[in-house]
Amino acid sequence: MLYQRSSQLFIEANEVIPGGVNSPVRAFKGVGGFPIFIKEAKGAYLYDEDGNKYIDYINSWGPMILGHAHEPVINAIIEKAKKGTSFGTPTELETKIAELAVSMVPNIDKIRFVNSGTEACMSAIRLARGYTKRDKIIKFSGCYHGHSDSFLIAAGSGLSTFGVPNSPGVTEGTAKDTLLAKYNDLENVKALFEANKNEIAAIIVEPVAGNMGCIPPKSGFLSGLKQLCSENGAVLVFDEVMTGFRLAKGGVQELFDVDADIVCFGKVIGGGLPVGAFAARNEIMNMLSPLGPVYQAGTLSGNPLAMAAGYQMLLELNSDQEIFKRLEEKTAYLEKGIDKVLSENNIAFTINRVGSMISVHFDKNEVYDFETAKNGDNDTFKKFFHELLKRGIYIAPSAYETWFITDALTYEDLDYTIKCINEVAKIL
Ligand code: PMP
Repeated sequence: MLYQRSSQLFIEANEVIPGGVNSPVRAFKGVGGFPIFIKEAKGAYLYDEDGNKYIDYINSWGPMILGHAHEPVINAIIEKAKKGTSFGTPTELETKIAELAVSMVPNIDKIRFVNSGTEACMSAIRLARGYTKRDKIIKFSGCYHGHSDSFLIAAGSGLSTFGVPNSPGVTEGTAKDTLLAKYNDLENVKALFEANKNEIAAIIVEPVAGNMGCIPPKSGFLSGLKQLCSENGAVLVFDEVMTGFRLAKGGVQELFDVDADIVCFGKVIGGGLPVGAFAARNEIMNMLSPLGPVYQAGTLSGNPLAMAAGYQMLLELNSDQEIFKRLEEKTAYLEKGIDKVLSENNIAFTINRVGSMISVHFDKNEVYDFETAKNGDNDTFKKFFHELLKRGIYIAPSAYETWFITDALTYEDLDYTIKCINEVAKIL
């Protein structure tokens, strides 16, 4: 494959955009080389500026569940755009999509739309703090909740009780209110509650983690978090930016039958346009301005184009009784195929999968938190990534990202992918 135009475009982009990209992981820093510049996409495929075609396993980091340029979604956007793109007033469509989302997701009465997953999580935490009148939050190492200050906190050496900022620009004052815990470790969370009695407003968690590869919650982990929150007067926030409307109609709350207090959404509910949302029961949501004292706002929030795309997407996810089953079956087929060819080629690996989220870790041991995720062999991953790219298969350019399966994928695509992985495994 030739990447002449992509590499030229990357050089030009670097002159005027920091690192040539508007979101860091796109720069291929984790795997080396030039990023490919995408010109267009349709169904399960991406087409780059050099005319190469790829089977897409990123799907815009999750939202293209129905495939790229899905016609009903595109038509909804076009029809809406003809009537104006933003009014800064309420519109009927916002109520319709809110009603639909509330009917699909368990345990929520009201939802507010924002413009990104970052905004959704940031606002959810402010709401949790306003509701509980407490300052501290617990987050898990390896979970990502967007780039707002409170979340850009990593453990110092191993696990530290108080977070330290992992980006310049995040103040120590902010970092001290974010307590870090290990994913899948309830005892650790319990200890944090004991050491910070009546100070913890919320736990925020990716209920199926997707930002350290895919990591499923161990049995009892999510219900244990819920119980600890209830016992300690804290709020449980599920960050379902990746999992919402993907793993089940009602997200992880439905899948694992655990109720969260606040749920954050993103990506999917915009059908590929910039959207996020957060939702909860009336008691919590009524704290929000203009009803209550917790302020949160947005000029483009509930934007007509984004709402039109999202509404169409949710309508289809809601009415297609088989979609989540189909997604699961396709992903399980892929898992089985990859498992077979990597085993036959004596590669050390672990595959984690929940529904249509899957990741391959190049380590033979169980991967259940950030520490175990870091044990993966990154050199093997880099080679795996580039060899697949050469064969027209586009997986995320980082060992810490999940693959997202789209319903537009055919079994021929999956067979071709498995065949390529078999070829690549021989040279890893
Ligand atoms: N939460 C999770 C779980 C995410 O994966 C992401 C982004 N991938 C975000 C929040 C932030 O969303 P956004 O990039 O739309 O701000």
